[in-house]
Amino acid sequence: MSREARALLLAAAAAMAACASRESQAPSGRIQRRPFGQVEGRTAHLYTLCGGRGLVAKITDYGAIVTELWVPDREGKKADVVLGFDTLEAYLAGHPYFGCIVGRCANRIAGAQFPIDGKTYRLAANDGPNHLHGGVRGFDKHLWDSAAKDGPEGPSLTLTRTSPDGEEGYPGTVRASVTYTLTDAGELKIEMTAVTDRPTIVNLAHHGYWNLAGHASGDILGHVLQVNAELFTPADATLIPFGTLAPVEGTPFDFRRGMRIGEDIDVAPGGYDLNFCINGPMGELRWAARLTEPKSGRWMEILTTEPGLQFYSGNFLDGTIRGKGGAVYAKHQGLCLETQRYPDSIHHPDWPTVILRPGETYRHLMIHRFDVKR
Ligand code: BGC
Repeated sequence: MSREARALLLAAAAAMAACASRESQAPSGRIQRRPFGQVEGRTAHLYTLCGGRGLVAKITDYGAIVTELWVPDREGKKADVVLGFDTLEAYLAGHPYFGCIVGRCANRIAGAQFPIDGKTYRLAANDGPNHLHGGVRGFDKHLWDSAAKDGPEGPSLTLTRTSPDGEEGYPGTVRASVTYTLTDAGELKIEMTAVTDRPTIVNLAHHGYWNLAGHASGDILGHVLQVNAELFTPADATLIPFGTLAPVEGTPFDFRRGMRIGEDIDVAPGGYDLNFCINGPMGELRWAARLTEPKSGRWMEILTTEPGLQFYSGNFLDGTIRGKGGAVYAKHQGLCLETQRYPDSIHHPDWPTVILRPGETYRHLMIHRFDVKR
């Protein structure tokens, strides 16, 4: 057996043992918590949630990161289907947003500045001339407060943090909350909310890297993706949208009927990295995407209340990152399907707004539903 296969088996056994264990510091046998390391003198934790249909998740309060998600295949064999690391140190050393919550504003803000009510705010240009995923130290690089509970839907973990006025250049104190629930129905449900004391931007997104064959199993080009979108937002070379909505019909972005990701990927320079406009009214829960891995039969459906879905095919993974169990994460080894507002919405007043004002509550629901195709 290869070193990697052995490491995988050992990790699977550890995850299952954790679920069976009664020696929990947290309130139920379906939730365990252990120290994960130190961040600025505070202890980070790693929670294990054991949900329905064999799902097991590990989530840390550092960056609200889902570090592992074990999902059964059509034979009932589990694999960890998200990219990530075994240690907090590896996350602290830097990574391309594996499994975290990005905020205050997911995706790009052109020119790293924006106006609200006539005043211009300047942000870090951390992606060429643009601002990406909340800046130099966004929500993914902070320790959140955490509280786990076993509820009627399944075990859940609520993570909260207060982002102070002026953090990363954004105005207003924002109180954000993210609840991960592993439901008895076999879902990973993510509920995001935020309030502010001054007008600001809020656009949170979960940034999981998926590989339904298992995080260490090579590229995702054989996965079949279906997206519930007639339109997408064409963008320039720095991925800033032009402001138009274009039909997917006749483009390599037509995933309406389901397409193997590798089928047309060469037409998109470097791979896919675009925002789809999900059909149906924003605010209503509707399906956004279905991802199937034919060999294992694993199948994931994403539902959301958000208007946009960023599909990123792991183009910048280049084999320099060693992940869990020593796995080498090469190009296209994982893919992201991030529900959110459209990129750079702050510069497009006719698009669904990213502005949050005092008295309003930002609400974003994202559900990952797992099953197998027989
Ligand atoms: C973006 C990519 C970016 C990646 C960073 C994705 O959400 O769409 O352009 O490179 O995040 O890991």
